[in-house]
Amino acid sequence: MNVGQTLFCERVLLAEGWASDVTIGIDSGATIVSIQPDSTCDSTSTRLSGPAVPALQNLHSHAFQRAMAGLAEQAGSTDDSFWTWRETMYRLVSRMSPDDVEVVTTKLYSELLKGGFGHVVEFHYFHHALAEVGRSDGFEMSARILRAAQTAGIGLTHLPVFYAHAGFGGLDPNAGQQPFIHGVDSFLALLDRLEPECRAADVRLGLAIHSLRAATPDEMSAVLSAERAAGPIHIHVAEQEREVEDCLAWSGRRPVSYLLDEFPVDDRWCAIHATHMTTEETARLARSGAVAGLCPATEANLGDGIFPATDFVDYGGRLGIGTDSHVATSVAEELRLLEYGQRLRDRRRNRVVSGPGASVGRTLVDASLAGGAQAAGLGMSGIRVGARADLVVLDGTNPFIAAATDDQILDRWIFALGNEAVRDVMVRGQFVVEQGRHRLEEDIDRNFERALRKLAS
Ligand SMILES: [Zn+2]
Repeated sequence: MNVGQTLFCERVLLAEGWASDVTIGIDSGATIVSIQPDSTCDSTSTRLSGPAVPALQNLHSHAFQRAMAGLAEQAGSTDDSFWTWRETMYRLVSRMSPDDVEVVTTKLYSELLKGGFGHVVEFHYFHHALAEVGRSDGFEMSARILRAAQTAGIGLTHLPVFYAHAGFGGLDPNAGQQPFIHGVDSFLALLDRLEPECRAADVRLGLAIHSLRAATPDEMSAVLSAERAAGPIHIHVAEQEREVEDCLAWSGRRPVSYLLDEFPVDDRWCAIHATHMTTEETARLARSGAVAGLCPATEANLGDGIFPATDFVDYGGRLGIGTDSHVATSVAEELRLLEYGQRLRDRRRNRVVSGPGASVGRTLVDASLAGGAQAAGLGMSGIRVGARADLVVLDGTNPFIAAATDDQILDRWIFALGNEAVRDVMVRGQFVVEQGRHRLEEDIDRNFERALRKLAS
């Protein structure tokens, strides 16, 4: 057995549950090759400074949007909505160069690591800088995303997004959408060009359809049947009530029904948001095996609505979390808001929970790990033999954590402490965050501040 390093954890959440005094062997390829509970810490092992839990997968990101987080909170009118927010986002896009995208993405990915994520699924639709529209094939922007992930040290699933229209029925894209647009042929050519790059960089490649309003059924079929990427397939669906109304007017069906009726949705798929569903749609989506990709902080920020998580879980549905527009960059904040949305709607406590006596934090972490791994195309999650060595060390010197038992550790982290509890983060067997700081924090912040000043000028 090729053991490159060993870690000793006094307490760790393994795939099969909490364990004590565990020695974890990691090979030089960053795969966990041995797990030995009830062991002693020998001189060759690195002793972790607090309880270790698996790093989570962030299943939905538009990295460039981190640059505008907090800057769309000024009232434009009494009727601000997702659609007015989108105009602000288009203005940002019109000013960003590939350099800016790389700098902002690197900053974001470093923040996601500090928030307890070890892997991110980038739903990438910003293909061309405005100045390059009509000349670029989109490769440059994707290459910048790959490089940002490498610099930050986060795992990446890259999903180039097919985006061709402004609305249902194949409406021509508007001026603000030009940086996002591909035809079917140019999109498939982009996937072909990215395939060897992603393989060389240990990046999972999948694809996404922006939404039912951004692609015609024929285009969706052409993209999906070309089978260029064997990885995951993601789509935004039913995020907004207006989208539901427009889909009904166009097809006579609601978006989730239309998607499930017309396309072979299965466990390769991830339905992002799926906020507005009837009970029947909720049950059908759950039965499809697709993951519901929930982004509670962004959904709250944009005034989207509340996902029917309790029903969806009761129907056996799989879910995971993403940070989408990145108004938050934290595992704890997304999971807390997911649960609180259900409580506010139902005026009851402890909603997403596996049964009496169970911990809400543990239920949410287990569900998000399984759904996140599926939606990221990773195949395996959690701390177990054969999995990638991605883990979060919570702060064992924090009294809330130090005095907590097993699942209480997760509940303290998610409901009481947030990012303050995250001390060290390991991805692929390397510590990229130590004592709450990213290994390249100063450089990343300097570049990011310069980019923000330039974008604001
Ligand atoms: Zn999104």
